Amino acid sequence: MTDSLDLPNGPWPTLEPGWVWLCGAGPGDPGLLTLHALNALRQADVVIYDALVEPRILDWAPLAEHIYAGKRGGKPSAVQRDISLRLVDLAAAGKRVLRLKGGDPFVFGRGGEEAQTLVQHGVPIRIIPGISAGIGGLAYAGIPVTHRDVNQSVTFVTGHDQSGLTPSSLNWKAIAQGSQVIVIYMGMKHVEQITGALIDAGRPASEPCAVVCAATTGDQQVLETTLGRMAEDIAASTLEPPAILCVGRSVLMRQVLDWQGMLAGERPRNLDPLGRGRPAEAS
Ligand code: SAH
Repeated sequence: MTDSLDLPNGPWPTLEPGWVWLCGAGPGDPGLLTLHALNALRQADVVIYDALVEPRILDWAPLAEHIYAGKRGGKPSAVQRDISLRLVDLAAAGKRVLRLKGGDPFVFGRGGEEAQTLVQHGVPIRIIPGISAGIGGLAYAGIPVTHRDVNQSVTFVTGHDQSGLTPSSLNWKAIAQGSQVIVIYMGMKHVEQITGALIDAGRPASEPCAVVCAATTGDQQVLETTLGRMAEDIAASTLEPPAILCVGRSVLMRQVLDWQGMLAGERPRNLDPLGRGRPAEAS
């Protein structure tokens, strides 16, 4: 383990006064930041960060002002507009502004709206992608978001719409029937409706599922369940958001790929959880 991290030789972009960089902070583990994020943290005058940004990440911007812009789940959109306009004001005041968002800024993070508002106000921007919880968080649980024997496609779904309700615009039937693996963000609140809609649309209640809470942080917890049992298993547990719900057979791969369990000394539960009966790489 090393204590300090120097950026490799550049050139690295300069965060100029009056600019806003919208940056993904990844799902939690600070090691999942990108080098561009680190470069930005080192230059920012102001860091405006969301609730799901791991606080230790701010330690990499010790000289910057840290402004919390957190809001969790379905709060009025006026607040969102306030945040965007605050970014505009800070840029207009000549600050080097870093807008730090959990995961990837353009994945269910309203980063697109913020960026659009900035551009509409003539503020120059840069976008720094991050590792999204629906990919990196599952990887930390030992679940590959795609796996050749399971899925050639994956669907990312949000369990909330702007009103905080289960998104009515979603065609659950099409998702249930057409998506081999379904990765649901913000799904805890409406888990019963979501799983019910998928089962009603023909998805087997026995389908393997996982609930990955606080993924990649020291508090990560993983529940393995089925579509039919997920809601009651969550209700009977102490699990809390943030959580990613994953529906699909790729969840079974955790039986052989739970690398965090292996780090803690556990043995893989099943070396061939998909029952291929032949070496993993054989076609
Ligand atoms: N832009 C983010 C998603 C923001 S929406 C990204 O790309 O990851 C917020 C939702 O993301 C949460 O409700 C939860 O579903 C998911 N999420 C974010 N961080 C998470 C984490 N560490 N563990 C599990 N889920 C997480």
